[in-house]
Order: sequence, then structure tokens, then C-alpha cells
Amino acid sequence: MRIFCIGMNYASHIAELGNSTPTSPVIFLKPSSALLNEGEQINFPSHGKELHHEAEIVVQIGKNGKNIPINEAENFIEALAIGLDLTLRDLQRELKKEGHPWEKAKAFDGSAPLGKLIPFTNQDLTNLHIACKVNGKIRQNGNSSSMLHPITSIISYISSIWQLEKGDLIFTGTPEGVGPLNRGDIVEIFSQQLGSATWQIK
Ligand code: MG
Repeated sequence: MRIFCIGMNYASHIAELGNSTPTSPVIFLKPSSALLNEGEQINFPSHGKELHHEAEIVVQIGKNGKNIPINEAENFIEALAIGLDLTLRDLQRELKKEGHPWEKAKAFDGSAPLGKLIPFTNQDLTNLHIACKVNGKIRQNGNSSSMLHPITSIISYISSIWQLEKGDLIFTGTPEGVGPLNRGDIVEIFSQQLGSATWQIK
């Protein structure tokens, strides 16, 4: 099982970080040790100071596929979920400046909290709500309709480089409103279509 992540997939989030829009999808991976289920605690990492929430829609792949055409991509989805792409923003800024890989900032243990997997039936992938509250206050409130690369395009694109395998997860990018989490904070992600999940930062 691999965890693929898409970076910079919402114009509003690209703008808030002052990045320029990439011409093709930005992809990075997290190891399986990044996964964290509901009920487990998020430990504030010791190697950075600015831990950001990035609420994202997550796709679980249901069967192996290589070079999947966009119009067949839905057939490869097993389930949908909401998740967090936790990011040490201060460390990421340093690594970007040096031109180094992102993994230390984005792929540490517990950096991919995941809500409950909801079987994919015929949900509209271009209209999925995703939001994030911290200590009861709304921070992020977006929809997959604003993605630069829609979910089916992402699946097709990733499968042109890697054979997708049953069980793989794809974090599809975050809308605007990312911000810091501190020890003791309660972070809740929720979606009108995909339910909610809550963690406390220890
Ligand atoms: Mg992200």
C-alpha cells in the first residue's frame, strides 16, 4: 500500500502560500507509517515548530491499473474518505529554499490521519465537500469542484507513472485556509458526503 499525495491542487491554496501554479500535478508520497486512524493521537513532531492542517479528500484504489484512461478512472475507486496531510510548514519552507525533498516535512510518522473509508458507489467526484475546524472554529471549507486536476485526472496521471495497486490511497490536495495546530488543539475534519473525524494534538 502506498500513499500518494497531490500538492497545489486548489488555486486558492496556491495563492495563500504564494506559490505559482504547476503545469502538471505535483506528486509526493508518504510511507505507510504515516497513516493514523481515528482514536489514535496525533503527536506533535519534535523536528519542527509549525504544524499545519491540510484537510483533503482521499481516494482508495480498488484494483490494479496502469495507464488508466480518465473516462475509466472511476472503475478503479474502492472507497472515499477525508484525511489530513499534516505538514511541518517551517521545515517545508527551509527544504524548498534548499531545493531538497519534502519528506521530512510531510512524510513523518502519523502525518496522514485518515477518517472512515466510505464505499464508492456513485458519489459525484466533482462535488465533494471538505472542511476543517480547530477547537470548534472553521478554518477550511472547500469543495472538489475547485480542484485544478479533478480526481479522475489524478488517477489517470498517477497510473501513467506508477501501476496503481489495490489498497493505495491518494490524498487529493487541500483548499485554502491551512493553518497551525498546537498541543491540546482538537482538529475536526468533515464533509457533507463523507462524514467527520476528530483528533487531539498531544
Ligand atoms: Mg496537501
